[in-house]
Amino acid sequence: MPDEIQNVVIIGSGCAGLTAALYTARARLEPTVLTGAMPGGLLTTTSIVENYPGFPEGIDGTELMINMQQQAERFGAQVKFGSTVEAADLSERPFKLTVDGEPMLANTLIIASGAGHRHLGLPSEQALDKKGVTYCATCDGALPMFRDQPLVVVGGGDSACEEATYLTRFGSKVHLVHRRDELRASKIMAERTLANDKVEPVWDSEVTEILGEAEGKVTGVRLKNNKTGEENALNCAGVFIAIGHVPNTQIFEGQLEMDDAGYILRTESAQTSVPGVFVAGDCSDKVYRQAITAAGMGCAAAIEAERLLASED
Ligand code: NAP
Repeated sequence: MPDEIQNVVIIGSGCAGLTAALYTARARLEPTVLTGAMPGGLLTTTSIVENYPGFPEGIDGTELMINMQQQAERFGAQVKFGSTVEAADLSERPFKLTVDGEPMLANTLIIASGAGHRHLGLPSEQALDKKGVTYCATCDGALPMFRDQPLVVVGGGDSACEEATYLTRFGSKVHLVHRRDELRASKIMAERTLANDKVEPVWDSEVTEILGEAEGKVTGVRLKNNKTGEENALNCAGVFIAIGHVPNTQIFEGQLEMDDAGYILRTESAQTSVPGVFVAGDCSDKVYRQAITAAGMGCAAAIEAERLLASED
């Protein structure tokens, strides 16, 4: 075990984690931020962020996250890029973490591990992953394989609308396949998406299989209309799945109280069921899931961690 005990270890580097880092750094707690495999979190996979206050013209998602990281570092946060927590023992303080195979001790912990993309759960989805099946239009949309080809986006929320609109830059047509006949997305996003000539909604439909060539390349999807039961195939070169997220909380299962979907339960003051462990952002929020609410939760978690440590001094 290492001799050194960190005051605050922050797991995750999205809006929640980096805001917690900024506040705890300014409190002179020298926080350590473990970024995980995706530094900056899911916002780095968005194009323009138009609803983060302070940026009247919007701001690129990656740029916003780099700004937050630099702001936290300026006050002394230590950001460990790519570092991932493989295991955590929260049975007593200091908490014992295994980070990239090495032990780490933390007096307080702020979990801001975010959420990952939800999958359809089809065997063909897994088989054709990265061969035309993707979960991120901003990351993959410009690939030559999708140029001037018909594309499919699955989902009906803000993410699906954003992906569909973005993909109209590259594809010949974007079929937006949704399981209902009404989008879940915010009004402004839904209107913008449906007004785009290149977006064709496919209502009341579920993808039952992703079709591909033997050498592994998406050629289409098999759809089932859940009202009529009718089945048909739709040709496409890419399937962009945007059906929501699942919280990244598996390593804390059995140690922290969670709801049935795996979201960590928290009190109004960012406390989890284990004293000294605080939580913020998408791994504990299935209601708002916004950059600004995650940042607010990160701030609350930081202030509470600081108060706890001060009370123990
Ligand atoms: P979401 O709002 O949870 O929407 C998920 C969509 O996927 C829903 O339309 C849902 O259908 C559908 N879906 C879920 N499971 C499915 C399945 N197994 N098969 C087929 N369809 C399925 O997720 P999101 O769009 O990723 O948005 C998450 C949060 O981020 C939201 O709060 C959103 O406002 C926010 N966001 C904001 C922006 C922005 O403002 N720029 C951009 C992206 C995301 P039903 O509607 O039938 O449930």
